[in-house]
Amino acid sequence: MRIVALAGGIGGARFLRGVQRAYPEADLTVVVNTGDDTTLYGLRICPDLDTVMYTLGEGIDEERGWGRQDESWRAKEELAAYGSPTAWFGLGDRDLATHLRRTQLMLGGMSLTEVTASLCGRWQPGATLLPMSDSQAETHVTVVEEGTKKAIHFQEWWIRHRAALPAQAITLVHHGDLLPAAGVLEAIDAADLVLLPPSNPVVSIGTILQVKGIREALTDKRVVGVSPIIGGAPVRGMADACLTAIGVETSAEAVGRHYGSDLLDGWLVDTTDAGVTVPGVEVRAVPLLMTDLDATAAMARAAVDLA
Ligand code: GDP
Ligand code: CA
Repeated sequence: MRIVALAGGIGGARFLRGVQRAYPEADLTVVVNTGDDTTLYGLRICPDLDTVMYTLGEGIDEERGWGRQDESWRAKEELAAYGSPTAWFGLGDRDLATHLRRTQLMLGGMSLTEVTASLCGRWQPGATLLPMSDSQAETHVTVVEEGTKKAIHFQEWWIRHRAALPAQAITLVHHGDLLPAAGVLEAIDAADLVLLPPSNPVVSIGTILQVKGIREALTDKRVVGVSPIIGGAPVRGMADACLTAIGVETSAEAVGRHYGSDLLDGWLVDTTDAGVTVPGVEVRAVPLLMTDLDATAAMARAAVDLA
C-alpha cells in the first residue's frame, strides 16, 4: 500500500507514528509544510520537517512535542545575554547541530529535498520525507501592533506573541510560481491513498495546498482527512486563531466543509462530533485523541478503512 500524507509538525508527526504502527509494510511518503521555515543567525531552520524527522526517528522530546530529547539551552541563554532580538525562538543546543548541518549542506549546493534525505540518513524515519517545495516560501501574518499594521513572520506571531495578536490575514509569501519539490507530484500520482493528518488546517495543510499543482494532483485521489478540532477546540495549540483569521469557525464540521468535497472523500471526526455533515464527503466518527500509540494506530486504521 502506498500512502502519501501532507503534514505540519506535532499533530502530523504523532499521527504518522500511528500509521507506521498500523501499517508497518506500507510505503509512506510525507509531504511536509515548509511555510514555517525561517533563517536565524544565518541558519536555515525547518521546524515541521525537523518535528516529523525527530518524531519518526525517535529523537523527539516527547513531552514538548518538538525539538530534541535530552536538550540543553546554553546557546539560547548566551544569545539572550547578548540581547539578541530573536532569542525568543526555541533553539536547543542539540537541535542547533541539525540547523548547522542543514545550512552547511545547502551552502554546498544541495536542494532542501536532498538535504532532508541526507539528515534522514541519520534518523531513519521509516518514511520518505519531502519538503512541499525546494523554493523558499514564508507564511506571514498581518497584525496591528501599537497602532501600526504590519506583516510579521509566522514564527514571530506564533511563538513570540503566542498567536494572541489578532491576525487580519495569513499569507504565503514567495517569488513567482511556488513549485512542488522534486518527487512530490510523482509520489501523489503513485499513491493508493492520501491522508491529511490532524495538522493545522490553515498554516500546515492549507499552506501545502497552495503549492502549484498539489491540489489538482489530489482531485483524482482517494483523500481522507482527520479533524484536528474536537468539540469546537483544537486539541493542542492555537489553530483556532488561524481559523478565525481566514473566517472559518473552529469546529470539525466547518473545517471539513472548508476542505470540501473537491479535496476530501472522507472526513474523520471525533465521537464527540458525531452527526457532523459535509456535503459530498463521507463523515465517520471515531475516537480521535492520540493518547498513546495504540489509540493513534486505531485512528490510522479508521482513516485507511474510510479511504
Ligand atoms: P504544528 O506545526 O506543530 O502546529 O503541528 P500541526 O500542523 O501538525 O498541527 C497541530 C494540530 O494537531 C493542532 O491543531 C491540534 O489540535 C492537533 N492535534 C494535536 N494532538 C491531537 C490529537 O490527539 N487528536 C487530534 N484529533 N488532533 C490533535
Ligand atoms: Ca508548523
